[in-house]
Amino acid sequence: MRRHWHALEPHGDRVVADVTDVLILGGGISGLASAYFLSRRGIASTIVEKQPRLGGLIRTDAVQGCALEAGPDSYIAAKPAVTELAEQIPGLSEEVIGANEDNRRIFLVKNGGLVPMPKGMAMMVPADMRAALASPLFGASTKQRFLRERHQKARERTTDVSIAEFVRDHFDDAVLDMVAEPLLTGVYGGDARNLSAASVLPRFLEYERRYGSLIRAVRSERKQQTGSLFLSFRHGMQTLTDAIHRATSPAATVVSGEATAMEHDSRGWRVRVNNGWGTYRRVIIALPAPSAARILERADVELTSELAQIPYSSAITVVVVYRKASIDHPLDGFGFLVPRPERRQLAACTWINTKFPNRIAAGYIALRGFIVGQDAEGLMLGGDEQILSVVKREFARLMGIDAEPTFHTLHRWPASMPQYVVGHNARRNRIQKLVAAHPGLALVGNAYEGVGIPDCLRLARIAAESIVLP
Ligand SMILES: Cc1cc2nc3c(=O)[nH]c(=O)nc-3n(C[C@H](O)[C@H](O)[C@H](O)COP(=O)(O)OP(=O)(O)OC[C@H]3O[C@@H](n4cnc5c(N)ncnc54)[C@H](O)[C@@H]3O)c2cc1C
Repeated sequence: MRRHWHALEPHGDRVVADVTDVLILGGGISGLASAYFLSRRGIASTIVEKQPRLGGLIRTDAVQGCALEAGPDSYIAAKPAVTELAEQIPGLSEEVIGANEDNRRIFLVKNGGLVPMPKGMAMMVPADMRAALASPLFGASTKQRFLRERHQKARERTTDVSIAEFVRDHFDDAVLDMVAEPLLTGVYGGDARNLSAASVLPRFLEYERRYGSLIRAVRSERKQQTGSLFLSFRHGMQTLTDAIHRATSPAATVVSGEATAMEHDSRGWRVRVNNGWGTYRRVIIALPAPSAARILERADVELTSELAQIPYSSAITVVVVYRKASIDHPLDGFGFLVPRPERRQLAACTWINTKFPNRIAAGYIALRGFIVGQDAEGLMLGGDEQILSVVKREFARLMGIDAEPTFHTLHRWPASMPQYVVGHNARRNRIQKLVAAHPGLALVGNAYEGVGIPDCLRLARIAAESIVLP
């Protein structure tokens, strides 16, 4: 990644920024996008990043002609923020590709084997009843529950409930365990008994309010799908962060350092980076909530306490690359999810050659293993060989692959996935109110209003627009 990287000067108490400058803490996509949207309004900014690279969780490894994702591999097409931004940056929209729709199916592990998700599932809701009733994934009582669910009456909930409770109100434990939980694990790495229905599944809550039955709702609201559900960039997601950074230079200066504290000052905010303090009129905090909490301790204890209570889950991604000739699995889909009752340590696997065929060089097969939550936390301090052997064992058990890999990449992402637990929306509202009481402060990132990349961009744009208002 091309960087404009400047050593941080020890700057004591003096004002180091022009009054129009904005300090941005964190150089992940939220921080980079904040700088970009500010630059579009002619406002310069300084980004402070503690790692020796920009992009945060977004990282693509280019190895032996393959583009291998360390973090996100795509984004939801239905949320327009990435597409809109790609259209603004010259050349970027030409790099957007869809996942391979010819083979968009995923498998679920049941009794140690791979069973295809029935077609027409909208999350855990069967829009195609015939396919759901014919599927070996569900037993007879689950299928009867599908039939009965169509008669449920509209209801309005007054309190937030867990996803587990919400799903059980419509279906049964098998749907929760075999479909809802594994799908959410891939995104949140969390526990359906703790995650909030209102924050994570707002669309389904709205369906329940209007229709009662989720099955009737998804059937009525089903839109003719055009194009891919998931989009990405030809050479990987890092294309996006690289392009945002390039488009923002030279308006954004990047400083290598760790922000550790901030406090009010008559001129704005004093911020400590490494061992020096600088003063800025405006600060955008684009950090995971626990880091934001620590930094704000001197400025607002209540805000710190709210931020510190957003729990996080961890992830490990391992891309294992084999010689094509050594694999005889058909890989006829995007990969598989391992429901909790079937899980040893691997939670999911992406068959990259099928999902994004152009990313893998000829002659190779690349499989990406995903370990999350407590399983990831348990392995986080283990050596690469230990983690790799866990993944290989699972590939052997679930796909019959026991070939020796040619090479692999491995990334540990401790405390990287915010958990929108029951009550999250109320906490987010309290955080918004507390932040609004501090002029010249904005919080962006995936801890608040959506865990995916489009929501990070949406929040960054709003923050960049609102923070410069008088
Ligand atoms: C394994 C995995 C897979 C994912 N897959 C998808 C996907 O397919 N699609 C999707 O839309 N989303 C996905 N996500 C979520 C997505 O990656 C995030 O929402 C997004 O990248 C968050 O960006 P961010 O800039 O808010 O945070 P981050 O990327 O975490 O950036 C924060 C930055 O702040 C820096 N920092 C932290 N503390 C300090 C400090 N004190 N001082 C200075 N710098 C600091 C960090 O080094 C980091 O660079 C995935 C997440 C993970 C973990």
